Amino acid sequence: MGNPKKVEAATLETKNGNKKLKKEYTQTIFRDWCKRCGICAAFCPQKVIVLNEDGMPWIADPAACIGCHFCELHCPDFAISITRNGAREVA
Ligand code: SF4
Ligand code: SF4
Repeated sequence: MGNPKKVEAATLETKNGNKKLKKEYTQTIFRDWCKRCGICAAFCPQKVIVLNEDGMPWIADPAACIGCHFCELHCPDFAISITRNGAREVA
């Protein structure tokens, strides 16, 4: 899905010597506002968001989030929020 080089460029924030920093994000779903349309899961390029058997979205792989905000921008009910936490070192 998508261009892997593009994803890597978006994920790696900077290089500090030989150490790379990866941005980290928190995904919050406001379940009371969600109407289970599935748009967020359909648009997520990283499959961070998946739907359970009732059609309710849940965060399956939070660490894979690249902060593209597609889910937040396309949710018709403003039921998802993406916030940046900071960055951690990756090998
Ligand atoms: S910000 Fe992008 S990668 Fe992260 S959960 Fe939303 S759509 Fe997926
Ligand atoms: S796009 Fe919004 S309303 Fe639709 S399933 Fe996702 S969180 Fe719920």
